[in-house]
Amino acid sequence: MSETIAAIATPQGTGGMAVIRISGTTAISRADQIFQPVRGKLPSEMEGYTCAYGYVMQDGRRLDDVVLTVFRAPHSYTGEDVVEISCHGGRYLTEQILRTVLSTDVRLAGAGEFTKRAFLNGKLSLTQAEAVADLISASGENAMKAARSLRDGATYRRISTFSQTLLVLLSDLAVWADYPDEDIPDVDGGALENRLSTLLSDMRGLLSTYDYGRILREGLHTAIVGKPNVGKSTLFNALSGYERSIVTDIAGTTRDVVEEQIRIGGVTLRLSDTAGVRDTAEQIERIGVERSWKYLEDADLVLAVFDTSRNLDEEDKTLLERLPLERTICICNKSDLNAVWQPDALGFSDVIEISAKTGDKLPQLEAAVERFCSKRAVPAEDGLIANERQRGCLMAAIDCVQEGLDALHMGLAYDAVTVSLDGAADALLQLTGERITDRVVDTVFERFCVGK
Ligand code: GDP
Repeated sequence: MSETIAAIATPQGTGGMAVIRISGTTAISRADQIFQPVRGKLPSEMEGYTCAYGYVMQDGRRLDDVVLTVFRAPHSYTGEDVVEISCHGGRYLTEQILRTVLSTDVRLAGAGEFTKRAFLNGKLSLTQAEAVADLISASGENAMKAARSLRDGATYRRISTFSQTLLVLLSDLAVWADYPDEDIPDVDGGALENRLSTLLSDMRGLLSTYDYGRILREGLHTAIVGKPNVGKSTLFNALSGYERSIVTDIAGTTRDVVEEQIRIGGVTLRLSDTAGVRDTAEQIERIGVERSWKYLEDADLVLAVFDTSRNLDEEDKTLLERLPLERTICICNKSDLNAVWQPDALGFSDVIEISAKTGDKLPQLEAAVERFCSKRAVPAEDGLIANERQRGCLMAAIDCVQEGLDALHMGLAYDAVTVSLDGAADALLQLTGERITDRVVDTVFERFCVGK
């Protein structure tokens, strides 16, 4: 861990400024070798959290004028000595400065290596470190807010309360098992059961946030469905802002699924325009139709489109029967044309009438999508299960607590309960990264970018 590492911490490309970060035991002395202060001190003479103006020198000439900041261990992002050089942006210049730094026997940092060091030095729990990666890639305000809460340790704190409860229960059981001859009151089986049941339901509560975490990470999977020609592609284009889907009045034009990521308010949608659902003998179209049904089943949100300018028919009715009610927003399209039926014919309590062609009432549809999302939102301040790894650990812990409860119900010895609760505590330590293998740590940090 003693090797000193460096990388460009800002995005590659042209910009006003860029930052090069150096971390490790020799970070400050290496900075001395390449930095010439305009006046005042060399980095090694500077206090932590102070900065100096000067030049980065390469082969005796000034490469750029920069602001250099010194952070002294352990008060830095990584917990090690850190130097940050804020230089002028531009790919060539930034790479030259990095090259100069690397020429002083400093190694180029691997992906996520700064954050990995922060984790290994106890500056961040694993759930916080993962949130850093999410913060970098977060799209949409809601995802950003959630990632920020997790970065501040919300999930870690919640998991710690579970661990604390388990440790108290385990110590009660240990006292009873280790000192059977002492005058210690028996473990109260009923009270133990109650505490385990409460713990189990709290843990399940946290597990249920996974779905929302996935939506924040990936966006809300949203399928636009309806029979051919109701205006699905027109709606798709209106929502995504440009003509991507082919709009024609020949039924069956969208034969496969077209996807687009769009933002509505604080929400990111992965919007799919599906092939019109209808009974067809044409083989390629039929494959498209089957895919549409699959999208409808898997989507977080279904936008079901009907056309009020043409009569409702069997194809509309088949769709109505297959719609997942709790995940559907019903849309009556072509409100600019004369209606031949009224929206209440659909039997849905909430129907939005729009004209995808003129854009009329689209804001109402967007508001309905936002309402749908906010109903599913969970307050990230209470913690959130943000990825598959965290979910796996929490599920293992839940299984162990459930096993402990089963052992109690079956009247098994408390030793059996202890083994299960030990297993649960262990799974939670893996979740927060307090007990974890190197391989898992490497996997977590591999998805970071270099420089973070
Ligand atoms: P899809 O097969 O469901 O994707 O339908 P399209 O989006 O391709 O639209 C079929 C036809 O309906 C095209 O001629 C569109 O211009 C027309 N259309 C779509 N939405 C509206 C609307 O709101 N009002 C009117 N008047 N025509 C529309």
